[in-house]
Amino acid sequence: MQAVRSQRKSFVKEVVPTLPLYRSAPALEVRLEEFELFALDRLRVLKGISDGLSRGKKHDEMQKLAIELWKTNMRHPQASEVVNKDIISHFVLRLVYCRTEDLRKWFLSMETALFRYRFMNEQPEPQRALMEEFDLPYKAVGGSELESVIDKLVQVSRSLGAQSQPTASDIFFKVPFEEVPELVASRRVFISKGHAYIARNQVVSLVATQFRSLLSKALILTNRKWTTTIAEQEKDRLTPIVEALSSSYLGPDYSEPKEFGQISLKDIDDAAKSSFPLCMRQLFEKLREDHHLKHGGRMQLGLFLKGVGLKLDDALAFWKAEFSQKVGVERFDKEYSYGIRHNYGREGKRTDYTPYSCQKIISSTPGVGDHHGCPYRYFSEENLRAALGKMGVTGRAVGDVMDKVKNKHYQLACTLTFEAIHGSSCDAGINHPNQYFKDSQTIIKSKVCSLRESFKVPSEADIAYSRSTV
Ligand code: SF4
Repeated sequence: MQAVRSQRKSFVKEVVPTLPLYRSAPALEVRLEEFELFALDRLRVLKGISDGLSRGKKHDEMQKLAIELWKTNMRHPQASEVVNKDIISHFVLRLVYCRTEDLRKWFLSMETALFRYRFMNEQPEPQRALMEEFDLPYKAVGGSELESVIDKLVQVSRSLGAQSQPTASDIFFKVPFEEVPELVASRRVFISKGHAYIARNQVVSLVATQFRSLLSKALILTNRKWTTTIAEQEKDRLTPIVEALSSSYLGPDYSEPKEFGQISLKDIDDAAKSSFPLCMRQLFEKLREDHHLKHGGRMQLGLFLKGVGLKLDDALAFWKAEFSQKVGVERFDKEYSYGIRHNYGREGKRTDYTPYSCQKIISSTPGVGDHHGCPYRYFSEENLRAALGKMGVTGRAVGDVMDKVKNKHYQLACTLTFEAIHGSSCDAGINHPNQYFKDSQTIIKSKVCSLRESFKVPSEADIAYSRSTV
């Protein structure tokens, strides 16, 4: 596969199965924009699956979620290009995720999970074709051999609560038990003399193991190629794209407040209590306490406040009111006001800077005296429990949040906090502090509206209207 700058695209036509096995990179040219965009779309699918699994969704829910994610993100305006998009995006992400052991592990698990859900979604015919593609050497068991074990197969099937039981006319495959570790671990298969008896609907486990093993080897080979040649050869073109992709933020841009227009200085303390995520509350409180924040904190909080709608003049007044208590008005004007105007694109290169995403905040490492970064990652257990209590998270929810933190699922911990505080689910998960703020305000405003409705409290517009008509 070759990435090119040209607008021209030429594909070598191949017979590609509905569900490709990605055995080798296809001979095709792809434009640089597509190289990146296709990979981002596939990343959305893999990240969605990863979130669903970490949230403990059941198998059926995961199956539905994965297929929906696939349909939403992997579309292409030209139907004929859908398969190419699938293949290109896989190979680009293979480059991205071959580079370290942790990246390989994550990609391998998510791609295998995706393959499994897609395989389950196929009709029996394409499923059979895929088994042939893998060249699986297993023969169907029948006749007297199947009859000799059918009672055991029925017992396993009953223990799984299956509605219909297997009969001697069904198809089973006999495979070495180590090839279906998941079925063995979950006791969903009958084993005799080192062989597991697999029903037709369990074949996915077998196929997924094959897929995983193929991909695992391929990732090691890709890593070798990447470190020995590609990274250097492509250092001015593909390497920066590949390196940025594994930490890409995939959500919307929050540099401009859209829904809620503005936040004024008089409302900022209430908004902080009700709608700031923990990372921003921490900075906000430290600023109010110490009347100072170091550079990392000023950037993280300053850009967040810009994103929630604090205008430049209000931002200058807000920071000045705090900093001047510590460093005096003159020093604030001289040393700190420039940075605030800079964030709003009024100084320097006049770039309008974007608020930080969770991914960026989580990956930062605050030093001594710093308060930026994600508290779910860097707070001690004791401090985190205390902070959660202050936010109103109590009882079982605290344990659930702490569990996610222990497993390093910081954004999920934040999502569970959001859900506990607002009493409402957040299926998309928290990916950005400004998304937290926006979703929180949406819920709070809809609760206020329904309270108004139920108590028939007139809205400000109603009051204004009735005044004007008196
Ligand atoms: S998960 Fe994101 S929004 Fe939540 S505290 Fe961490 S950085 Fe902030």
